[in-house]
Amino acid sequence: MIPVQTALDTILKEVAPLGLESVQLQNALGRTLGEDAISRWPNPMWNNSAMDGYAVRSNDTLGASEEAPVRLTVIYDLPAGHKPDRPVGQGEAVRIMTGAPMPEGADAVVMVEKTGPAPDNGVFIRSIVKHGEHVRLRGEDFQKGDVAVKKGAVIRPAETAMLAAIGSPFVFVYKRPRVAVVSTGDELVDINQTPPPGKITNSNGYTLAALVREAGAEPIQLGIARDNRASLLEKLKQAAEADCIVSSGGVSVGDFDFVKDVLKELGSRMIFWKVAMKPGKPLAFGVIGGKPAFGLPGNPVSSMVAFEQFVRPALLKMSGRLEIERTTLPARLEKDLKIKSGRVNFIRAKMTIDATGLCVTPLAGQGSALLTTMVSANAYIIVPKESEGLKKGDMVKVQPFDMTAFYK
Ligand code: AMP
Ligand code: MG
Repeated sequence: MIPVQTALDTILKEVAPLGLESVQLQNALGRTLGEDAISRWPNPMWNNSAMDGYAVRSNDTLGASEEAPVRLTVIYDLPAGHKPDRPVGQGEAVRIMTGAPMPEGADAVVMVEKTGPAPDNGVFIRSIVKHGEHVRLRGEDFQKGDVAVKKGAVIRPAETAMLAAIGSPFVFVYKRPRVAVVSTGDELVDINQTPPPGKITNSNGYTLAALVREAGAEPIQLGIARDNRASLLEKLKQAAEADCIVSSGGVSVGDFDFVKDVLKELGSRMIFWKVAMKPGKPLAFGVIGGKPAFGLPGNPVSSMVAFEQFVRPALLKMSGRLEIERTTLPARLEKDLKIKSGRVNFIRAKMTIDATGLCVTPLAGQGSALLTTMVSANAYIIVPKESEGLKKGDMVKVQPFDMTAFYK
């Protein structure tokens, strides 16, 4: 048996980011930026008003107060999107809207709430403004030539805002890995059938496709391969067209478990491990024509755990992501936990947040075929192989796999 980290390190050494493609900015959400995005102009492009009000020479407001307002002459209106007509002279003001360029001569804006109408195109200024007050300076956000968004950044709404602001209708992003998903087993029927005696539903095909999608990759569901060499070979050949292959079942030591042999037959390099983890011990990994192939265990929970620990980081790396491993957090255990030592245990658990911080409850029913536990879980408690069991109140290492603990 090899340690989890050794297995992951070996896998990550074999995978590299895919090439780049250009996509429209509105379709780039969740993708990874493939090159530094350089701003072609400063933001803001010119000094502009941060308020609706009056652009003035700050010196003209000296001594202004509620009791003794200063009168200035309004020389014109300046809405956003328009250019100033002429400079502001002494004793003058321009009625300005948020975002409009500052007229020459003016160095501050008096917000409209601090003003009032005065006769003969005038305005009363009821408060002093300092030089630069309510003025947004050219380039204060970023300068021309700055890296606005770095290569490797995940495009979230904020990155979208930045890319839009620098005028990028198209962006280069890493290609999304296309992942072939194959389920193996003579016992499997597809989900449109009620399983006849002896058969079960191919749930893994759907689970793995969902996990692939959740990792930002594109699943190609190839359905079921039967437990014979010919059927498996045919499916896996088809699967080798994709950027990555994920199969479930057929990697333990049963007589009908052909996956590792067929993968070996198809590929140059084949690695088969027993990984020191529970669940998810048997794992076949190989590289076929430069493409990673994962043979995950058939038990539904085992295949999910193995996907999370090994396939997901590989897919994120292929997608150009720089941060590829799920974070782990310390949390307070809410219940005693008995475990068998010797392997790292991934205990399905429910993480919550209360006033004292993160708490985690191990769920009853840790069998690797129990989907109900998976449905209730939002995190794994990762118990080191040396552990002989944990007590309520102990601090444990938790790996959340969704955000539900963070919502109310
Ligand atoms: P195997 O790894 O092929 O020995 O399968 C281990 C267990 O997982 C068996 O109980 C299988 O019936 C079950 N299993 C295998 N493939 C699937 C699948 N695609 N969906 C649901 N259960 C599966
Ligand atoms: Mg099987």
